[in-house]
Amino acid sequence: MKIDTRLSERLKKINPSLTLAITAKAKKLKIEGKDVISFAAGEPDFDTPNLIKDAAVEAIQSGFTKYTPTTGIPELKKLISEKFKKDNSLDYDVKQIVVSCGAKHSIFNTLFVLIDKGDEVLIPSPYWVSYPEMVNLCEGIPRFIKTLSANNFKIRPEDLLKHISLKTKALFLNSPANPTGCVYNENELRQIAKICVNKKIFVISDEIYEKIIFDEIRIVSIASLGKDIYDLTITVNGLSKSYAMTGWRIGYLGGPQDIVEAISNLQDHSTSNPTSIAQKAAVAALSMPDTFSKEMTIEFQKRRDYIVERLKKMKKISYVLPRGAFYIFCDVSATKLDSMTFSNRLLDELLIAVIPGMAFGNDDYIRISFATSLKEIERGMDRLEEWLNKI
Ligand code: PMP
Ligand code: GLU
Repeated sequence: MKIDTRLSERLKKINPSLTLAITAKAKKLKIEGKDVISFAAGEPDFDTPNLIKDAAVEAIQSGFTKYTPTTGIPELKKLISEKFKKDNSLDYDVKQIVVSCGAKHSIFNTLFVLIDKGDEVLIPSPYWVSYPEMVNLCEGIPRFIKTLSANNFKIRPEDLLKHISLKTKALFLNSPANPTGCVYNENELRQIAKICVNKKIFVISDEIYEKIIFDEIRIVSIASLGKDIYDLTITVNGLSKSYAMTGWRIGYLGGPQDIVEAISNLQDHSTSNPTSIAQKAAVAALSMPDTFSKEMTIEFQKRRDYIVERLKKMKKISYVLPRGAFYIFCDVSATKLDSMTFSNRLLDELLIAVIPGMAFGNDDYIRISFATSLKEIERGMDRLEEWLNKI
């Protein structure tokens, strides 16, 4: 088939998402009856709370099944505005908020309205798999800022400065980060903010993992650090991770009004509103006391601590302690296997699914997700330890 002449140049460069592909493969093998242990999942293994499900059922029963305003229903946007104030010390009026079909959609919309062909977008590496592809889709140029494990995979001011050119339009920040679990502190964010303000660079701050945070460290939203950086920041968040609602597809952003209006226009002519039913479910989620994500986080921290104890004793594998999210990024270069070979061998020989670091821009690493039960983690760690001793 001569696909090349049929697809746009824009699409030819795009790869499928490895995270989604491997997660789907592991699920399929499980359904086929294979004893697969999946450390691939990019979603909490907890069920969506009943209160949220009930609100969705109620929305269906009461006929709340029609178009809504493109950027979301007023009661949801009001709750999001209050959440930004309470959790992030951010003043976003409802006019500065757009609800979309997942944070992925919010990020894509942001890039689409900001980026012209050839504009450069800075992406700290390792990065979440979709950032560079979304930049490519918008005909921008992803410019990677390599970070070091010795610096907990965080960019330093000098790294940032070195990568800025006249074409630089925006910088991605993701704290807590996927796949490394790194979290920026206030001082680090202040230094980054200062540079972005000086150079007039937008910040796309992806805060989707903000509720999953360990060791009682404090998260800070970069936009809360002053008026100048607030005016340059688009703060992205969503309900997928905090409320175990990945399938409902509700994400949102807050940002400067002109950018938000452009995103609203884009959404008018692309997806229209996110699903009406899911929006009602989101209203229920944001009205609940904040206990669900706290309980989930306690469980995630237990699992992280367990994995770390096990990995410490293993040969040929090392890691940087994650301070948030539910992933641990492990250096497997001592095995002399690249990340794809390592991951394929784990799946073929041990029935363990992990994501190769290649998906995140680092071929020496693999990503282990601990969004699975402690029992499964224990079994997986036993298999891995035995195998690493052998190879
Ligand atoms: N950002 C990061 C860093 C993620 O890991 C994810 C998970 N898919 C998303 C954004 C998007 O989440 P969603 O579209 O489900 O809201
Ligand atoms: N963010 C998750 C992950 O990194 C979900 C998969 C995806 O959307 O790519 O695995």
